[in-house]
Parts: sequence; structure tokens; C-alpha cells
Amino acid sequence: MADQNQPNINGNANSTNRGNKNKMPRFNFTWVYVLIALALGYLFFAGGDMQQSGTASKKVTYTVFKQYVEQGYANKIIANKDEGSVRMYVKPEHIRDVFQQGVEQTGKQPFVQAEFPSADKLDEFVEAQQELGNFKGELSYKRSDDTFMQVFWNLFPLLFIIAVWIFIMRRMGSGGGVGGMGGIFNVGRSRAQLVEKGTENESKVTFKDVAGQASAKQEVQEIVEFLKNPNKFTDLGGKIPKGALLVGPPGTGKTLLAKAVAGEADVPFFSMSGSDFVEMFVGVGASRVRDLFRQAKEKAPCIIFIDEIDAVGRARSRNAMMGGNDERESTLNQLLTEMDGFGTNSGVIIMAATNRADILDKALLRAGRFDRQIHVDLPDLNERKAVFKVHLRPIKVDASLDIDLLARQTPGFSGADIANVCNEAALIAARHGKQAVTKEDFLAAVDRIVGGLEKKTKVMTEDEKRTIALHEAGHATISWNLQYANPLIKVTIVPRGRALGAAWYLPEERQITTREQMLDEMCATLGGRAAEELFTGHISSGAMNDLERVTKQAYGMIAYMGMSDALPNLCYYSNEEYSWQRPYSEATAELIDKEVKRMIAEQYDRAKRLLLEKREGHKALADLLVEREVIYAEDVENIFGKRPWVSRTEELLTSQPANDDGEDNL
Ligand code: ADP
Ligand code: ZN
Repeated sequence: MADQNQPNINGNANSTNRGNKNKMPRFNFTWVYVLIALALGYLFFAGGDMQQSGTASKKVTYTVFKQYVEQGYANKIIANKDEGSVRMYVKPEHIRDVFQQGVEQTGKQPFVQAEFPSADKLDEFVEAQQELGNFKGELSYKRSDDTFMQVFWNLFPLLFIIAVWIFIMRRMGSGGGVGGMGGIFNVGRSRAQLVEKGTENESKVTFKDVAGQASAKQEVQEIVEFLKNPNKFTDLGGKIPKGALLVGPPGTGKTLLAKAVAGEADVPFFSMSGSDFVEMFVGVGASRVRDLFRQAKEKAPCIIFIDEIDAVGRARSRNAMMGGNDERESTLNQLLTEMDGFGTNSGVIIMAATNRADILDKALLRAGRFDRQIHVDLPDLNERKAVFKVHLRPIKVDASLDIDLLARQTPGFSGADIANVCNEAALIAARHGKQAVTKEDFLAAVDRIVGGLEKKTKVMTEDEKRTIALHEAGHATISWNLQYANPLIKVTIVPRGRALGAAWYLPEERQITTREQMLDEMCATLGGRAAEELFTGHISSGAMNDLERVTKQAYGMIAYMGMSDALPNLCYYSNEEYSWQRPYSEATAELIDKEVKRMIAEQYDRAKRLLLEKREGHKALADLLVEREVIYAEDVENIFGKRPWVSRTEELLTSQPANDDGEDNL
């Protein structure tokens, strides 16, 4: 119900308990790069001397070199003609004479190095010294390619690391089916699948293939119109929207809708899953996004469809200390940049699908990006019938098949589940060698799929359906019969999101809320649990959401709005984010708790009394819900009669289409 009228009470009541998760530093691949870079740097700068580490050497003039040889210090002389330099290795007993240091400091084979004027002169000099007996060793020559080898050996570790890295990249790159060679060169390319007219994977999906989803279809039809005749809109100065976000549970036909848009508008269609962007390596996601948009611009007008956009679009962390340049975030940033970057009228429209719009980054939902949200919910009874009709088209069915019955037997099924039922039924019939698929095959298929799905999705049993109907009827009955509760628009027991059923109310447009209004709303919110207790004899987990809201509301009213008689006119609200200290005493804390309990208990009793008083009406409502799954304000009015109070909003209600603000989850 209309929590949004009291924005300051929610979330503060127990904010101290929150915010401690997600503080573990996340493993970030940037660090791997930093480590590799450091290692390379070390090898590069230190590597040159590694071979001679611990060996002293000294540059001297040719004259000094000659003196050393004449004094008989030389052990070995090696000349490099290419460089014009000569090395004289010093005899161990003369190391101290040359280096003024012991062997411990200079190493076993220290040398002096000098430039020689010409090879002939050097030869001559060395020969003379040999004859004189000052030098007993040989003069040997060394080629420059030794230096090459030396460089090679210095660089070897580096080359090795690069090789390993390439190997890993290639493994990663080819993982996604790019295949063969070039994995490493293609990591930055987008993996989008292109559906285009005249190619083998041409899309033949049209709106006819999408059953039900009337309102989603209508909104999406407009996008087709944009793509087909952009001038119609731009001539009037209008801007064509850049993106539309399809929100709804899996299997409800979001991809199908996007494909239908492409099929109807006759434009190319790039399809990609959000998780395709995310890779272990920094920068890959961003580069894939760039690549995708580049390709799309070449093919404009066209549609980009990103399935499961929450894989990249999850809200960026607020903590600037950690993960600030996390890969996913840089991918998201790139996506935002690209969406800003191309002109509004370039003919590229982005559609994305998610079943968690609430966790998406706010920046994605801003104007100029995914500013349109199109809700695609699980089908209700009539919609399921329509989906069955679509998927029964290619199947040879027995004449006795009753589609009504099938739709009735499949509450909570998504479009994909229904497609699955039809296929499974055909398989079962074929296994039994039948000529046509019969009702029994379908029912067997339903059972089989319910069995398989039970844990995964919100498939309901008859019993659960009844409980949910009683619960929702409880909300509806009370809100209809209390003066200040929000007027009801629609009640459904079709599961949506995490909730099992839902009721929609039109929240009153009001700036302040009185205590009576809050209490009435609290009573209506408790009506679900009260109805369960009264009419099934059990209470269920389905009311948790309601209870959470009621509890917060009660704390807000008592601790922040001074609305209880025991604590009048006191506000303990503190807007300091990290205040661990409560601004009240232990005794007051106990009093607040007591008052909250009392307030909720009072409203719960009130709800039960009212439900008992209106039990016939409540039962009729619940039966209607079980039968139809969705009921509207008119149906409630038929049962309870017109509400005697006409509020400002109800006047609006008659003149305005229903909106699903202020929805109430079971
Ligand atoms: P989502 O993208 O919402 O997860 P899909 O669009 O991939 O779901 O739907 C999967 C399949 O389910 C479709 O290929 C189609 O066969 C079937 N389906 C889902 N919704 C509908 C629908 N409203 N009408 C007809 N078929 C549907
Ligand atoms: Zn409820």
C-alpha cells in the first residue's frame, strides 16, 4: 500500500542492522596485472646484471690495461672485435692490487675492460707480453652474437610469461564458442547474435506469436512505429526514445517481444546476454560494448537486445574505497557512455530485459537511456488460454481437447512453461503411438512439468491457490470497508516477482497523512494474515512482506511521529547515518517496543472483527479470485456495494486509467 506517503519512516527503523554485508574486499583481476607488471619491471631493470651478480668489473684506459698485463696480473684476455673492447680477467692473487678489495667482495673472476685501438696492435702487444712471460694465458676472441644470447637469456623469463599469458587468453577467448584460432584477438569483439532479413537466421516472429501481454505489446508497438517512420516523430520535434526495459519473470516472453519488434519493423536485431559482456579480464567488457554499438550503428536502423541486463547493470557500489574500477562497473560505464554517445535519431533502439529492475543502477534508468519500462508479467487465466492457442497451432490435437481446462490447470505457469507443456504432451502422445494428442497427454505433461518446476518457480497447487485467494481477498475486503484505506483497483493471485499475489491500490495524492489513515492502511495490510488465520486455521509465510511493512510503519508512527498516547509528540528520528547511540533510554526503548506491539495487535484484532462481520462477502471474493485469478474494483463493488465515502482520489479513479502504483504484495 501507499508507503510512499511516509518516505521518512521506512528504512530508518532498523538501519543499524544493515550495511554490514558486502564489506569483504572482492578479488579483483587488476591486482594480477599489477603483479605481472612489477615482475616484468624487475626483470627488465635488474635482469641485465643478474648473470654477473657478485662479480666486480672496472673500465680502464688502454694504457692502464697494458700496465696491468705488463705487471703480470692477467689470467685470461678476451677481446670483442665488434665492440673494440677487451676484457682482462684478473689473477686471484692480484685482485687486491687492481680493485683494492678482497675476493669476497669482487667475486672469483673480476675483470677490467678497456677499448683497444686496433686488433693488430692488441695482437702485437699480447704476443710481446707472452714472450716476455708476463702473460701465460691465451688471447681469445668473442663474437657479438654472444651478447645476443645474453640478451635472450635475460629476456627469457619475460617471454615465458607472455607465452603463458597468451595461452590463458586463448583458452578464455575460445570458451564462448568463437572457436579455433584468434580467440585472443577476438576477446574484445561483441558476441552479439545478428538476426537479419535475408540471412539464415532471419526472424519470422511477429506480434501474432506473442499471446496475451496486451499492454506490453501496445507499448512495444510504438517502438516499431519509431523505427518505421522516424520522420513522423522527428518532424514534430519529438525525440525517439533510446531504450526500453522489459521487466518481468523469466519465460514470460521478453525475448519474444523484442524479436517481434525486429520482425515487425523489418530491421536487423542484435541479441546478446548481459553475462556475455563480463569476462575475467579488465577492459574486455567495455570493448565488447564499444564493438556492439559500432556494429549496430553500421546497420541502423536496428535493435540491440540485451537479455539479463542485470549481469552488467547492477547498481555500482557506493563504497569508493573498493572495487572502484571493477570490471563490471567499467563495462556499465561504457554502456552508459555509448547510450549517451549516439544521437537520439540515429535509428538504434536498445531493448533490455531483466527480472530485477530494482537492482539496476539508477543511471541506467535515467531519461535518455532506458527511460521506458515495460512490464511483462506472468499470464493470467485468459492470457494462458491465448498462449496455449499459439503453441497448439503446430500440434495435432484431439477434437475433445478443452483449452479452458488446460489454462485452469496451469496457474503460475509462464509462457515458456506452457510451450514446454505442449511439446511434452506431443512427446508423450508419440510415445504411446497415438494419432493425435489428447487431454490425458496434456494433463500428464502438466503434472510432469509441475513436478520438475516446483522447486524452481512459483507453480501453485490448488491448496496454495485457495490460501492466496483468501489472503488477497482479506486485503481487499478490509480496504473496501474502511474509510481511509486506499481504494482498490485490481487484485490478482498470479505470482509476480517474489510475491505470490498482489493487490493494486490507488494511493491518495496527499502531502500529509493522518493517524486514522495510517491505522486504516495498517489494518488493511494485516487483513491478509487475519483472513488466513480465520478461514484456513493456519498462518503462512506468505504474509511476511505485509508484516515487515506494518512493523516499520508502526515504529515510524511511534518513534518518529509521536503518534502513540504513551509517547506523545516525541520524535527520535536521527539523520546521522552512523549514530550507534540511540537518542533515548533503555526504558524508552522498551516502551516503544511495547507500544508497537500494542498498536499492531489492536489493528490485527480490528481486521479480524471486520472480516468476521463481512465473511460472506469475503468468501464470495475469494471464490471469484480462485475462478478468475484477477478481479477489479467493479467486482468488489458488486459484492460489497458502493463505498459510502467518496474520496478525492476516487473521483480521479473514474476519469483516469488504473495505474499500478502503490501495489501491495502478498
Ligand atoms: P524471457 O525472455 O522472458 O525469459 P522468452 O521470450 O525467451 O522469455 O520465452 C521463451 C519461450 O516461451 C518463447 O520462445 C515462447 O515459445 C514462449 N513464450 C513465452 N511467452 C509467450 C507468450 N506470451 N506467447 C507465446 N509464447 C510465449
Ligand atoms: Zn498480503
